[in-house]
Amino acid sequence: MHDLVITGGRVVDPASGTDAPLDLAVDGGSITALGPGPTGRTVLDASGCLVLPGFVDLHSHAQSLDGQRMQALDGVTTALDLEAGAYGVARAYADAAAEGRHLHHGFSASWASVRMQVLAGVVPDGRVETLVGQLGNAAFQREATRREEDALVAGIEAELAEGGLGVGVIVGYSPGCHPREYVRVAALAAAANVPAFTHARDLVDFTPDTRIDGAEEIVRAAAETGAHMHYCHVNSTSLHAVDRVHALVAAARREGSVVTTEAYPYGAGMTGIGAAFLAPDRLAERGLAPASIVVAATGERVAGAARLTELRAHDPTALVVVHFLDEDVPADADVLRRALLFEDTCVASDAMPLSWNGPAQPGAWPLPPEALNHPRSAGTFARAYDLLVRRGPLGVAEFVRRAAVLPAQVVADATGGAVRKGSLATGADADVVVLDPATYRDRATYDASNLPSTGVRHLVVAGTPVVRDGAVLLDSRPGRAVRR
Ligand SMILES: [Zn+2]
Repeated sequence: MHDLVITGGRVVDPASGTDAPLDLAVDGGSITALGPGPTGRTVLDASGCLVLPGFVDLHSHAQSLDGQRMQALDGVTTALDLEAGAYGVARAYADAAAEGRHLHHGFSASWASVRMQVLAGVVPDGRVETLVGQLGNAAFQREATRREEDALVAGIEAELAEGGLGVGVIVGYSPGCHPREYVRVAALAAAANVPAFTHARDLVDFTPDTRIDGAEEIVRAAAETGAHMHYCHVNSTSLHAVDRVHALVAAARREGSVVTTEAYPYGAGMTGIGAAFLAPDRLAERGLAPASIVVAATGERVAGAARLTELRAHDPTALVVVHFLDEDVPADADVLRRALLFEDTCVASDAMPLSWNGPAQPGAWPLPPEALNHPRSAGTFARAYDLLVRRGPLGVAEFVRRAAVLPAQVVADATGGAVRKGSLATGADADVVVLDPATYRDRATYDASNLPSTGVRHLVVAGTPVVRDGAVLLDSRPGRAVRR
């Protein structure tokens, strides 16, 4: 008699090459048997469903219970904030432990957080909202002195010592950062044997006077330092230059560098309104206008440059949806498809914290209409499945490789192989998504961003159901800290 058995589904596990109708047994948080007919104290019916390793999201800023509920219904069992990183690693893990988490979670050491302390005197409080509010801080955006660089490197090393999963480097938000500083941070990651996760600097295609091309900077750092460089959301930072970026990454890989990539299937981004590239006089670089920007909490479409200046000054913590590409325009939609289909690209959501139109209602579930977000926070994996499998060229196994196996390899790299996800082999962690391929779909849109995906029948995290028969079990919090 096993703890839990998932019966009647089609098990697809690219890591072991399995694709067959099998029952799956779980004991003590691990997969203990695959085969017909095991019996269990808890039985989850998977008939008509795919039984897959739970998706591993390398890029989730939605480090909260409500954010994780949305991601659970999208098929995610591990959600990590590796791009921005923790605004204080010890604090972020402690806060998650105190409240409990539905999903496995973890953080990188945050270059931005340390840079805000060293250059701008901002004290970290563990909250991503605070980090967002400082993106427009001129002191954070400027070049560091050599002495400040030294302090920055020491600060990141201290954060790694707290268990950070690599170094998150959102250098794209700090246009004044000297390229030397970036290489030093990459060298630090190489020395610590962890990846660096980069939100790339501006590309020369849009910003000819950038200090260095954002894509060149990443691949050069990989070659010069030997670090594993992970290139975050290639879709949103490359836009129509995506093929040039892919060519650079492919060449770097051929030469032996470790450069991994990720993408999400939406034409719009989301960020803090204070971001350097959203300055009114810089919008044209990316073909944007003030009306390309929508304030998440209120739905206000920014009317003009004067209003944008006013909003940036008065509420720098505001999150905004930035409409870069139009998914209804075929040439734009094709950029997203190419980004997601590029060789060995991970699906990663860039899920965001909620914005509230009115007072926050923590714990409210289902999310009320006042809880607003970017649809990627709810629908990235289901939407990628629709685009790549249902309407695209990939088989289920290749999709699972991109949604679970490849990101799990990045996590293994970040933990010296100690944390191994993305497999359903006997002995693997029992992180499992059971989804109905006929009904697995994203529902969130820019106008209705709080609708979770449909089709995830069950979600098992460390052997414990978090979603059962399509409903989130609100008190089930088996998520563990992923840390070094
Ligand atoms: Zn980013």
